[in-house]
Amino acid sequence: MQFNKITQRDIKVLQSIVATERISIGESDLNLHSKDQSQHPAISPEAVIWPKNIKEISDILSYANSHLIPVTCWGGGSSLEGNPIPVCHGLVIDLSYMNKILEIRQDDFQADVEPGVIYQDLNHKLRHKGLFFPPDPGARATIGGMIANNASGTRTIRYGSTRSNILRLSVVLANGSLLETGCRSSKTSSGYDLINLFVGSEGTLGVVARATVRLTGLSEMLSAAIVTFPGLKEAGQAVFEIIRSGLDPASLEILAPECISLFNKEKNFKLEVLPTLFMEFHGPSQQYLHDTMIINREICNGFGCRDFRIGIERKERDELLMARYELSEMIRRTHPGRSHMVIDVAVPVSAYPAIISLARAEVKKTAIPGYVFGHAGDGNLHLVFMGKNGDKKEWARIGQINDKIVEKAISLGGTATGEHGVGIGKRKFMAMEHGGSLQWMKSIKQLFDPNEILNPGKIFLP
Ligand SMILES: Cc1cc2nc3c(=O)[nH]c(=O)nc-3n(C[C@H](O)[C@H](O)[C@H](O)COP(=O)(O)OP(=O)(O)OC[C@H]3O[C@@H](n4cnc5c(N)ncnc54)[C@H](O)[C@@H]3O)c2cc1C
Repeated sequence: MQFNKITQRDIKVLQSIVATERISIGESDLNLHSKDQSQHPAISPEAVIWPKNIKEISDILSYANSHLIPVTCWGGGSSLEGNPIPVCHGLVIDLSYMNKILEIRQDDFQADVEPGVIYQDLNHKLRHKGLFFPPDPGARATIGGMIANNASGTRTIRYGSTRSNILRLSVVLANGSLLETGCRSSKTSSGYDLINLFVGSEGTLGVVARATVRLTGLSEMLSAAIVTFPGLKEAGQAVFEIIRSGLDPASLEILAPECISLFNKEKNFKLEVLPTLFMEFHGPSQQYLHDTMIINREICNGFGCRDFRIGIERKERDELLMARYELSEMIRRTHPGRSHMVIDVAVPVSAYPAIISLARAEVKKTAIPGYVFGHAGDGNLHLVFMGKNGDKKEWARIGQINDKIVEKAISLGGTATGEHGVGIGKRKFMAMEHGGSLQWMKSIKQLFDPNEILNPGKIFLP
């Protein structure tokens, strides 16, 4: 698709849609919207615009569509696959001014939000109502960005990904028209599921302008356990058995020994440096959690666990869980002069030992610092490599390992991306993963965005 460059005349028209101060061609604004948290190179937009309501989004898109100006949405910029990088330049729509929590209907377990609401802010507001919005990607992400990437996190095993927590969406389409889909009942069998089409579409089909999200009751009691195993195989088997036995963990995370070394160093945990499971359980009473832990311990003992540490008190539990949340940050600050690349794949749970063993073997084969961990209960694996800045050979090697792990995940019946989305980095695996259905995805893109102005260069290879 041949796009037009943004002219002075375009800027004038866009200024008449929003206010003069809510559109910028200033270098620092362009730089701030040129790069997410991935290793993909920065590409500057030509202008950044901050709408405040649906009408403004609609007018911006209608103008951009008729003048063939590419448009890329921006939430918090925390993506890890280049998802919001404006690869064709053009206009970035930054949704951060649309950050109102419009209504909380606690009796229905629902909230209406604008797309720029940060999910932690929503949960902060909900905490006195005994409710929360469960998907927890960890970074300061907006709900619009989470919807676009179908983000998930440590608690997805119990509460689902973003996809399972969206009831209604208002989406502005490429031509500026408004599409409203979904309903406020907690279930429906009515017609095609357009919500599922937009969730995970990375801003390539429309701009999410409002969402009704599903809320969940906060459990009265929580507990956590850290369990070490002699090997990854035993840890993987314990994951399967915990799920099979119906224990219903709220998170079930695996960490390879290099992550445990880091925790010991940074948090003084004094854990044995072995494959480790971090688990969290939610329940109605101390007794329930106590009984759950007894069964859990029996299961883990059955797989030869070496240490079973319970953090049932809130302070102790919080320390354990916070350490897991801070892992990415710890890895980054341990390696100055290096940048991270996060490999993200998911496989059926039975194939988890195979994929995690491959990842560990690859880490051992290279001198590049690498950390293996993941949302084991969802079959989701992450491998963070810290490549030396400017070292092309190291980065090429990391790229090769990424390809090998992704291809293996797909061959095991899994996916190239468990939660970070396709963005730029995973486009080349789309044909391998989706085969003939990729053509149907392209037809859907054509239907919603015939001029291909929305986040061009993402999901599909040019
Ligand atoms: C330290 C760290 C840890 C992370 N851990 C996790 C994790 O555990 N799980 C996980 O899933 N992710 C994780 N991520 C990735 C990231 O936080 C998520 O993908 C998040 O959903 C991105 O949200 P954002 O608001 O930053 O969106 P952005 O990065 O700004 O944008 C994401 C995509 O959404 C599009 N978009 C943004 N707003 C809209 C809108 N209103 N309408 C349409 N399209 C829109 C953008 O164009 C882009 O394609 C992590 C990131 C970091 C840095």
